[in-house]
Amino acid sequence: MFKLFLLSFLFLISLEASTKSSELLKRAQSYMKSNSTSDTFRAYDDYKTLYLRSMVDNDSSLKFEALKGIVKSGERLSIDVSKYSQELKTLSQKSSYNKPEPKEMKKSKHIEDVHVDPLHRLKSVEWREDTLLLEFNKELTSSQIEHFTLHDTIKGRYRYVFDIKTAMLTDSQNIKSNDIDRIKIAQFDPQTLRLVIDHNAKIEVAHSIDSKTLEVKLKTKTSKVVPALESVVPIKRDRGKVIVIDPGHGGKDPGAVGYRKYREKIVVFDVAKELEKILESRGYKVYMTRTADKFVKLSDRTKFANKKGANIFVSIHANAIDGKHANKVHGVECYFLSPSRSERAKSVAAQENSADLSDMNIYGKDSYLNFLNHHNTVASNKLAIDLQRGMLGALAKRYSGVKDGGVREGPFWVLVGAQMPSVLVEVGFITHPTEARRLVDKNYLKTMALGLADGIERYFANN
Ligand SMILES: [Zn+2]
Repeated sequence: MFKLFLLSFLFLISLEASTKSSELLKRAQSYMKSNSTSDTFRAYDDYKTLYLRSMVDNDSSLKFEALKGIVKSGERLSIDVSKYSQELKTLSQKSSYNKPEPKEMKKSKHIEDVHVDPLHRLKSVEWREDTLLLEFNKELTSSQIEHFTLHDTIKGRYRYVFDIKTAMLTDSQNIKSNDIDRIKIAQFDPQTLRLVIDHNAKIEVAHSIDSKTLEVKLKTKTSKVVPALESVVPIKRDRGKVIVIDPGHGGKDPGAVGYRKYREKIVVFDVAKELEKILESRGYKVYMTRTADKFVKLSDRTKFANKKGANIFVSIHANAIDGKHANKVHGVECYFLSPSRSERAKSVAAQENSADLSDMNIYGKDSYLNFLNHHNTVASNKLAIDLQRGMLGALAKRYSGVKDGGVREGPFWVLVGAQMPSVLVEVGFITHPTEARRLVDKNYLKTMALGLADGIERYFANN
């Protein structure tokens, strides 16, 4: 738990997150119209934020736009964006959002020549039993609709795509469904509204037009199965990897003290031990920054990881919140270190750090930004996503009400100085009665450690 700092930081995050991706994209695009270097930098920054969001939301079309922007602005700024342009190339080749391969798609008709009325727009979306109803403000014709299906054989996913030649939807939205993994509707380009139905199995999809309404009937063959994360990506194990696990706090520093006086330092040590056991059994080299209940300075933790030549650094913590919110706030979160843009974030980091003056002398108040390099920030973000998914996937299969607190970024001192991708995991709120009871339960911790281990393997398999 990072005390006051965390609370203020969460507030900060919520402010940042309030800028919608579509608005951010528009802003970046308008910066790009300017010729000034500082505006191009702003655009570059926005595109990077969008890129990270696209990974968190698993949104390929946003990723595509973000990568295009990063490459374009980066090149203008003479920043090395070769990694991004490589990814963009790969994405364009296999992208199901951009140009589906002809053999994969069944086109109903060619609609390139359809004239788009800019005032023709979507009014509402609703369910009538298993049929999705998209109501427009004007009559719809079949020539306005293109439908194709994509099957990703590697990931075993099916995508049913409807491109509707209408305009004026300002923001993308996800449509809730009990049976289908993901349904999303978004303005794909100025002339096309795109509806994507994404599922881990085949669906019977039938569509028809009734005057102003497009009716899409969706029938799944089976009831919803929680997709096993392990099966999504075939795992290639690289047993040469070195992992440093950092159980937070210890010794004179108990960390957060929560429900029934449970102590963070004990909980996180138990998770770390479980994780160590699993990773070792899978053939990895694992080191712990502390192997007993003793105090270790923050800066010594990453120094240790650097010395061991770790491929990744995972710091484990438990969260806490005071008083009247204790019964309400719970959930698991993953943080990665990033050079938070605002002055305020920097001052929050300095405040957090004041608890350990010796660390401050080593790094200096502002110089922590120098430790960050772009490559590690992106890699850490990816690692955080894999860890978060791993934990949630494993826990949600066995426990109810597990809350996804999300992947967040921030200037965490314990991660500063790490020369490898590093993530801080908050395994839950030790102040929340249910979550705290689970956090001292061996089976729960084992499940969580298993999820973290799977997340780590996914990360290594993909990077
Ligand atoms: Zn902590």
